[in-house]
Amino acid sequence: MKSYSGGCLCGAVRYRITSDPGPSRVCWCKDCQHISSNGTVNAVFPSASIEVTGTPAGYDKTADSGNTVTRRFCATCGSQLFSDSTGRPGLTVVRVGTLDDPSAIRPTANIWAASAPGWACLDAGLDRFEGAPAPPAPRRGSRDEDRRRAQCGDGAAGHHRGTAPRLRFVPGGRQDLRDRSARQ
Ligand SMILES: [Zn+2]
Ligand SMILES: [Zn+2]
Repeated sequence: MKSYSGGCLCGAVRYRITSDPGPSRVCWCKDCQHISSNGTVNAVFPSASIEVTGTPAGYDKTADSGNTVTRRFCATCGSQLFSDSTGRPGLTVVRVGTLDDPSAIRPTANIWAASAPGWACLDAGLDRFEGAPAPPAPRRGSRDEDRRRAQCGDGAAGHHRGTAPRLRFVPGGRQDLRDRSARQ
């Protein structure tokens, strides 16, 4: 199993991931352009595999799909670190540029390419999706799970409306992203 470390620009928020990465894609949705002035490069990990030191701020926004997307960023330096969606409970998007070694994860596709700016340089060697990435072929009994896992970018147009993991952070403390809502 692989492990990764990363953090924000000022170092107030650090994280460590112990998991193999899920899908990694470049997202060109308009929301990503607002937060990065470009496409965002993202990788999906199980939320429970991410340990966070420090307390990111969060901003909730309803996506076109109706899902609530929570973007987490450092309140001091503004670095965007994570994104959660009610459409993919238990999974967290990590901004690849915040890894200590961003080369460790290579994106395989551009998604929401239709809303990329005219000057954007999209690698023709990667898969291209004009909007949300196509879900993998459904397997019997696991259709919803496959659909959730297929969603990488913030703009992913998932139809599943679940309950996002409730994340808790303790200032300066070592905290993971496990769903603790059962204890509250
Ligand atoms: Zn910071
Ligand atoms: Zn996006």
